[in-house]
Formats: sequence, C-alpha cells, structure tokens
Amino acid sequence: MRYVYADNAATTPVSKKVVEAMLPYMTEHYGNPSSLYGIGQTAARAVDKARQQVAAALGADAKEIFFTSGGSEADNWAIKGAAALGAKKGKKHLITSKFEHHAVLHTMAALEKDGFKVTYLDVYENGIVRVEDVEKAITDETCLVSIMYANNEIGTVQPIAEIGKLCHDKGVLFHTDAVQAVGHLKIDVKEQNIDMLSLSGHKFHAVKGTGALYCRKGLRLPNLIEGGAQEAGRRAGTENVPGIVGLGVAITEMNEHLEENYNKVKSLRDRLFEGASKISHSRINGDKEKRLPGNFSMCFEGVEGESLLLMLDMKGVSASSGSACTSGSLDPSHVLLSIGLKHEVAHGSLRLSLNENNTEEDVDYILEVLPPIIERLRDMSPLWEHILENEKNN
Ligand SMILES: *Cc1c(COP(=O)(O)O)cnc(C)c1O
Repeated sequence: MRYVYADNAATTPVSKKVVEAMLPYMTEHYGNPSSLYGIGQTAARAVDKARQQVAAALGADAKEIFFTSGGSEADNWAIKGAAALGAKKGKKHLITSKFEHHAVLHTMAALEKDGFKVTYLDVYENGIVRVEDVEKAITDETCLVSIMYANNEIGTVQPIAEIGKLCHDKGVLFHTDAVQAVGHLKIDVKEQNIDMLSLSGHKFHAVKGTGALYCRKGLRLPNLIEGGAQEAGRRAGTENVPGIVGLGVAITEMNEHLEENYNKVKSLRDRLFEGASKISHSRINGDKEKRLPGNFSMCFEGVEGESLLLMLDMKGVSASSGSACTSGSLDPSHVLLSIGLKHEVAHGSLRLSLNENNTEEDVDYILEVLPPIIERLRDMSPLWEHILENEKNN
C-alpha cells in the first residue's frame, strides 16, 4: 500500500541536510557556547551563523533574533511581554483574531484573567481579517495587535503588511504568529512593519523544540527566563546548539527554493481541490486564492471527521481534521466555527497539508481513496439520511 504524508502543517520530517548539519554539534563540537576554549567557541560561532541565517531569511538583523523552544514559546513571550510593557503605560487592551492558534488565544485568555481587555476580531467566511476592523478596534489603550500570518487549519493568509502599516502609523505594537508562513511565503519584517514575529523549526524541516522570536531593535521585551547571558540575557539557558544549527540550515534551504516550492506545491494542491470538489455536498473552507500553497481544507456534509481520518489512515494517508490540538476532543475546531460553519458541517472537515516532498502520484492516490470512503461513511450516517430527506422536502 502507498503511504502519503499529508499533514505538513502539523509537523514535517527533518531534512537530510539539516540532520547532517546538526550531527557534528552533538559529537565533536559538543562545547558549551559560553565556554572560552576552542570547542566552546566553535559552538558559539555556529549559533551566531544560524542567527544570521534566520535574520537574513526575514530581512532582519541578527541582533533581533532570539532562539526559543518553538512557536508556542515565542507567541507567549511576545504577547505577555508586550502586555507587560503596555500595562506600565496604563495600556491594557490587546487585539487579536478569533481563529489564532491556541498558543495565542490561551495567552490572551490568561491576560484577560489578569485584568487586560482583549478584542477578538471576526475573520468572516473567507477566513481573512479586515484591516478596517483592526483600525476600528484600536483605541488609546491598545498596546498590541497580534494577527497570525497564515492560519494553520484553513491556510488563509492575512493582510500582514497593511496591518503592520496601520499599527506603525497608530504607534501600536504588531506581532504576527508566522509559524505556518515562514519557509513557505516571502517575508520581510521591515517592509511589512512587523515588530515581533514567531516561528517554529519543525514546521519547515528543522527539529521539534526549536524556534525563534524576531523582536525589532529598540523594543525591549521583559526577559523570559532569568539566568545566564544567553540570547542577550533575555532568555537564559544553554543553547540547543544542534537544534539551532538545524534551524538556520532549514530556513536558508527553504528560502532558496521559495518560489519553486510555492509553484510546485500549489499546483498539487489545486489538483486536489479540483478532484475533491467533484464530491457532492462539499465545500472549500476559506478563501481559495489567498491561502498557503500547500493547504487543502474542505468540509464534506454528513461525514464525521474522526472516522474520515481513521479510514484514510487505514489507506495509508496521514491527514488531519483540524489542528492537532483540537482533534481528540469532540468540539468542532474554533477555526471552522469562526468562519461561520455550523457544528455538524464543521465536524466533517478534512485538512491535507502538502509540501514539496509530495508528488502527483500522492495526490492521485488521495483522490482515488477519498470518494469511496466518504460514500461509505455517508451510507452509515443518520445525519446524511437526514440531509437527503430535507432536500427532498424542500
Ligand atoms: C504549530 C504552530 C504553533 C506552535 O508551534 P510549536 O513549535 O509546536 O510550539 C503556533 N502557531 C501556529 C500557527 C502553528 O501552526
């Protein structure tokens, strides 16, 4: 049986180049970057180089890159840090969207408990935040706007440069969770007026537990971890040298092939959309064009997402119904609800996230196994019977 990995938004395999670059930093170059002797300094130079690589990929300066344990940590640091800076000036209002990753939403909820006010912007049916809504929501009390670059479930890409410009003009800090975008879309933090940006290595072929926060020069966030002088004293703890080296190599590799990968992956994804749209009572979630090249997200009425995933798994296809964090619970994903889907429709959702390792054969295999699975599930579903009944009567 064929095996197709189509869940690259959840995580990606570590590339060979990344593994090869990392290995020496676990064996011969095992020194602590804070040590002054040879192997320590070799490690320190490797961390410096990776910092430059990450900075170059974002149009930032190396001094503006702070390594973290991943996207969640970077999100927490940016938001809690900006909130603390705001509170000092009596500004205790934050703006975000309804369909952010939980690393952002739960951080916002924690701040609400601490007396901050948070505005959750609508993302409408197309899954895109409106710049005029951001503008209307900003008040004299606003200390931060945090809007994700691209959504992890439905892949929609937000008007980041426009929001950045608006925030810049209004003197409000702007953070973006760019975990799904880095390595897949062209990003320039200066041109796009981004003050803080979160990224995660394992979403683009580096290892899990690696990531970074870009924090614009002149913006002094409170320290995240007290201790040694690592990360300019702001996030103490001996660096994950192999992981950081891998992150630098992975982001460079992705950025060198940005356009080529974009075109390849988008054409595979469009082939998937075209084929799957032939299934009756199906719909694409979110804007068809303004989305990540590899993101496929559709709902199939009368189908239960969890069963769909299990049956796809039995056919060798790894997919997702929403985010990894929400599957496992019976509530439909907050993302699908935020674009106005009814509970029962949102339950029948399928996310396939492709990347440059996928092939046309993968796509054709998915299109071969998917329709009969949906047909079988619908045959067994009382909900589907109900849908057909209703149609007959109308
Ligand atoms: C995966 C993801 C995160 C979390 O990143 P980790 O490195 O797994 O902590 C945050 N935001 C988005 C949009 C993601 O897709």
